[in-house]
Amino acid sequence: MTRDIHPDDFRDALGMFTTGVTVVAAVLDDLLHGMTANAVTSVSLEPPLILVCVDRKAGMHDLIPQAGAFAVTVLGAEQEAESVWFASPRRPHGRDQFDGIDWHPAPASGAPVLDTGVAFLDCRLADAFDGGDHSIFVGEVVDLGRLGGREPLVWFDGVYRTLAPDA
Ligand SMILES: Cc1cc2nc3c(=O)[nH]c(=O)nc-3n(C[C@H](O)[C@H](O)[C@H](O)COP(=O)(O)OP(=O)(O)OC[C@H]3O[C@@H](n4cnc5c(N)ncnc54)[C@H](O)[C@@H]3O)c2cc1C
Repeated sequence: MTRDIHPDDFRDALGMFTTGVTVVAAVLDDLLHGMTANAVTSVSLEPPLILVCVDRKAGMHDLIPQAGAFAVTVLGAEQEAESVWFASPRRPHGRDQFDGIDWHPAPASGAPVLDTGVAFLDCRLADAFDGGDHSIFVGEVVDLGRLGGREPLVWFDGVYRTLAPDA
């Protein structure tokens, strides 16, 4: 027996699945673009693969296949404002959305990595799959590293959290 799943119930249940928060970014010629994403996970160790699920309606959706690459910044506890910013449809598109934010180009893709994140993953687009109203982009990690931040930003039940200090 199956039941109709309302999107609000789906969000409510999945909200219990605690995640980190990232900014996925890509660059195509002079166009820089970033978006907040938590549908990011590891796929394979050898080869090193991750995936990111992107809404078909998001500006980022068509940019990733065109760029053929993307970079993921795992956000730090101090970066709630950046997460809100890169999830806002009101932010300007292009380079201006990075004004006032410290970033550097990822080594291979050249996509923006936010300096105060906790880690970054620089990816070559390896595959793309249909995922309902999202697409599943699989990235082969070609470079990665820790960044300046120490503690991660956490997303739980639709709210930003930080880790409790060690007891
Ligand atoms: C904690 C958190 C995690 C998130 N995780 C993800 C994630 O994993 N994957 C993901 O895809 N998004 C995720 N989002 C949402 C995403 O960050 C925002 O939607 C962001 O604005 C997308 O950036 P964009 O510039 O690519 O899309 P924009 O072009 O800014 O579009 C933003 C949204 O506006 C709507 N929209 C835009 N154009 C149209 C149109 N023509 N018709 C109808 N609607 C339209 C769509 O819903 C679209 O997703 C997350 C947001 C938060 C706060």
